[in-house]
Amino acid sequence: MDIVSHALMGGALGMASENNLKDILIVASFSVLPDVTQIPIYFKISHQHKRLFWLPKHIDWMGKNYHDRYPGLAAIWEAPHSIFFLLLVVTPSVLIFHLPKMAIGSYFSHIFVDLFTHKSKWGIKPLWPFQYKFSGLTDTWIWQFKGLVLSWLFFAVILLLVRWFR
Ligand SMILES: [Zn+2]
Repeated sequence: MDIVSHALMGGALGMASENNLKDILIVASFSVLPDVTQIPIYFKISHQHKRLFWLPKHIDWMGKNYHDRYPGLAAIWEAPHSIFFLLLVVTPSVLIFHLPKMAIGSYFSHIFVDLFTHKSKWGIKPLWPFQYKFSGLTDTWIWQFKGLVLSWLFFAVILLLVRWFR
């Protein structure tokens, strides 16, 4: 799923569970963390295609098997999308640094939603380092802008409902 939808979903979880802005922002940030490691892949692909502001287009990602060509880059995206990373790295970090526990749920929400919003070649490997790949229902990251806006509106409405009823 796209980063804005993830952030809105994390924001809703933060609003549902936390009372101050700092904790809400921490929870929201954990919903985007798994994709932060994707930044080097963006740079690599945009550099190859000479894109402005290092922003690759959808077409740059499609039809090319980056996973096989750059297994190291693929691994630094796949690892944080693994349930083992959540259990062995994220959860202890949240507990050690006394962060809001909903940050764990927020991180999990990212993996869970990505399972269904990445498919085939870009499917998530939820048990990484094991190579089992889950093929989701759609590739939301190649949706047209209209589809993305609908997704943002959907999660923004949920966020507002949570804020309203809390
Ligand atoms: Zn992701």
